[in-house]
Amino acid sequence: MNRDYVPLSLQRRVRDRARNRCEYCGISQAFQEATFHVDHVHPRSEEGPTEYENLALACVSCSLRKGARTHALDPATGARVATYNPRHDRWNEHFAVGEDMRIVGRTPSGRATVELLSMNRTLAVAIRVEEARCGRFP
Ligand SMILES: [Zn+2]
Repeated sequence: MNRDYVPLSLQRRVRDRARNRCEYCGISQAFQEATFHVDHVHPRSEEGPTEYENLALACVSCSLRKGARTHALDPATGARVATYNPRHDRWNEHFAVGEDMRIVGRTPSGRATVELLSMNRTLAVAIRVEEARCGRFP
């Protein structure tokens, strides 16, 4: 079996825990054509296990930008810091959502993750604006 394979029952638990939203940028799987990825927070390439406590739901853009990265540069200081870890960190401590639905990093880790994952890419902001208009975000 492919060591990256995540059993469907485990994928379902991860999606349910995430309420079917990207655990990084917050957009919903609903009305998205591409199926969100079940991401290894601690990457497989570093022996991160395929276990519930090491998995997170990530939209395709966040998942591909994150890849096997666990650290990035804080744009405010240039320091290399750990990126946001959805299993150990609290989203609201690291991020805030502005009136314009752009995500602002509140900590070095938050700022680094916003940049690394390009969480304010045009389409993601547009999706959050539309979800907010429909009362579905945050
Ligand atoms: Zn995302």
